[in-house]
Amino acid sequence: MAASGLWDDEYDVVVAGSGAGAMTGALAAASRGLRTAVLEKTSLLGGTSSYAGAAVWLPGTRIQERAGIGDSTESARTYLRALLGEDTDGRQEAFLTTAPEVAEFLERDPAIEFEWRPFPDYFAAPGRMDMGRSFVPLDLPAERLGGLASLVRPPVDRDRAGQGHRDAPLSQGRALIGRLLLALTNTGNGTVRTGTRLTGLVVEDGRVVGVEAETGDGPVRIRARRGVLLAAGGFEGNDEMRAEHGVPGAAGWSMAPSGANTGDPILAATAVGAATDLMDQAWWCPGVQDASGAASFTLGFGGGLVVDASGRRFANESLPYDRMGREMAAAPDRVPAYFVFDSRSGGRLPAISVPGGPGADWVQAGTVGELAEKLGLPADALTATVERFNGFARAGVDADFHRGEDPYDLFFADRSDDGDRGPNPCLVPVDRPPYYAVRLVLSDLGTKGGLRTDTEGRVLDAESRPIEGLYAAGNTSASFAGRFYPGPGTPIGSAMVFAYRAVGDMTETDTP
Ligand SMILES: Cc1cc2nc3c(=O)[nH]c(=O)nc-3n(C[C@H](O)[C@H](O)[C@H](O)COP(=O)(O)OP(=O)(O)OC[C@H]3O[C@@H](n4cnc5c(N)ncnc54)[C@H](O)[C@@H]3O)c2cc1C
Repeated sequence: MAASGLWDDEYDVVVAGSGAGAMTGALAAASRGLRTAVLEKTSLLGGTSSYAGAAVWLPGTRIQERAGIGDSTESARTYLRALLGEDTDGRQEAFLTTAPEVAEFLERDPAIEFEWRPFPDYFAAPGRMDMGRSFVPLDLPAERLGGLASLVRPPVDRDRAGQGHRDAPLSQGRALIGRLLLALTNTGNGTVRTGTRLTGLVVEDGRVVGVEAETGDGPVRIRARRGVLLAAGGFEGNDEMRAEHGVPGAAGWSMAPSGANTGDPILAATAVGAATDLMDQAWWCPGVQDASGAASFTLGFGGGLVVDASGRRFANESLPYDRMGREMAAAPDRVPAYFVFDSRSGGRLPAISVPGGPGADWVQAGTVGELAEKLGLPADALTATVERFNGFARAGVDADFHRGEDPYDLFFADRSDDGDRGPNPCLVPVDRPPYYAVRLVLSDLGTKGGLRTDTEGRVLDAESRPIEGLYAAGNTSASFAGRFYPGPGTPIGSAMVFAYRAVGDMTETDTP
């Protein structure tokens, strides 16, 4: 927070972080002719965005129109209002009205192409699209990026194993980051500086005029003539901050790249007077825990059932992952929980787990009672739970938690026919030995509490006044979606919109 003095470098716009929001903001700035620097703490670009499936929840764009799915800004407005309530600070409206513009801006660039993919919205509320309204980037042949491809963070399975990309097209989050990087590079105005960790903000006359950062060659001070955009993830990787703000889960169970998102930019901004909000919140998910203690993001439970420490079910296992995560966080005996299944899935986990493992950590037993003993659960209770569940499966109705009654549940149902599954594809009997169980912990895709921002992504102080020159987007900011995860792609879609709006605001502001 030192006063300005000698600068090591100077840009119009300085962006901290290199996830989807950061790269969209950087591209928006560079394509307007602004000299733009992306500062990335690690040696690789993309953060958690690079691990993502890269569903982008931007409603009412020409991408949904091309797909002919009948989406509209109006229906998304209805949906968001139903979930989030009145738009008291205008950010819902800012999100909705800018979403089509962001998609159009990005697709104008020959490096960027998207297509709609089915993936239902997460809540049964008016305005919902049962088959979803998110879109994804098309795969990107690595040759198009040339040497830059190795800068993009590989998929989570390979990254955790210390491996680089396969010789295949970049897909999902890697395609999104790769395409944004390609477009940014083609502008000729963007510089990407890896191994550069933002540590502080430089303030002059109440305005943020630059940043302090650490690099392999020592500390640097970088001037930002128009503004600093903090889009450097949340603080999911920082156990101290998690404990201070009461975020359920743990850094070691989070899906963010190890050591990446530790909240330094949030601390740098609060040190210059920024206010925060939603600090106990995250985008949660169940995580299958492996022997190392790390978790795999798990969704789409196509079979099996989940029990707590008492051996009883506590939720519809097919709930969207953030909602299931919230159910897990709701009582102390639900973490760890246990995902119990049988041999029907032929030696595969009856769910999608990212990264997927070979099953080495599964507990296996010949009977449900034996399985309970191995897990340290009450055998009578688990046996009774499985029997009750199998009764529901035969009847096709989950009288306890209504699994299989929502389009989202059905989207992931395993519809394979193995003879005696019952009428509800989401309720598959657990009756074919051997029986298996894995430990489920409360994982997350990032915290979503952070700096308070307005409709333009401007960071606010405790009196709700914008701090001049300072902007935030993505998980560095408190999400406009509050305690809800409306649909697949909300984290990335909203990060992109508010980063784009931030740069629009910087462009309108006179150069100091
Ligand atoms: C397997 C998986 C699938 C997912 N699928 C989707 C999906 O389909 N759609 C969706 O919307 N969301 C998805 N998510 C969630 C989503 O990826 C994240 O919530 C979102 O990408 C976070 O974006 P971000 O820009 O805030 O942070 P990140 O993408 O994590 O980027 C933050 C970057 O900032 C860097 N950084 C941190 N501190 C500093 C500092 N001090 N200085 C400089 N750089 C710094 C980090 O190293 C990192 O590279 C998924 C997550 C996972 C794990």
